[in-house]
Amino acid sequence: MDAEQAEHMEGLCVTDCTRCPALVDSRSRIVDGTGPADADVLFVGEAPGAQEDATGEPFVGRSGTVLDDQLRTVGLERESVRITNCVRCRPPDNRDPTTDELENCRGYLEAEIDRVDPDVVVTLGKVPSEHLLERSVAVTSETGSVEEVRLGEADTPRPVLICLHPAATLYDRSQESAFAETIQEAAAIAGVSPTDEGGQSRLGEY
Ligand code: URA
Repeated sequence: MDAEQAEHMEGLCVTDCTRCPALVDSRSRIVDGTGPADADVLFVGEAPGAQEDATGEPFVGRSGTVLDDQLRTVGLERESVRITNCVRCRPPDNRDPTTDELENCRGYLEAEIDRVDPDVVVTLGKVPSEHLLERSVAVTSETGSVEEVRLGEADTPRPVLICLHPAATLYDRSQESAFAETIQEAAAIAGVSPTDEGGQSRLGEY
């Protein structure tokens, strides 16, 4: 590994971890976050699912398609944002991660947030919202709310934007507009407008 790769991995990649016995049994691999190490927007999901476990990349299944489509609409290409999860190993039968599993992985998530130092952290769904805000969250009614939260080693609190999980729009189409508005808000906080290069100006291609 050269110095550049080593620097990139620092705070971003977990090469070996056996803290959660059930997850070690159920995973095929550790799924680290993807995207630039200096991204302005950091999305945090819950945990890898089957497709993420198979490919080693977060949000590549149906939820990922919903997220990618909305990112493109607001001028945030997937390649320009960072996407990670609270827990990096696939839970068995796609169950929610336990409190212990969330805690075991918390240091990795905080190190990633510190390293990326994004303008906004966007929590996709209930589990990451409650994990980072450390309170119960009614995501459907709170999507689009921003809270300043102390995370990791940073001296100052960071803006955390509560967002519906993309899959919520697959179960309930009426949530699509709230999801779209929240992703639009993330882009606005990061200073990206839908007319920027790669945004709405490209919608005619599709
Ligand atoms: N849902 C999540 O919360 N994370 C993923 O990586 C995929 C689906």
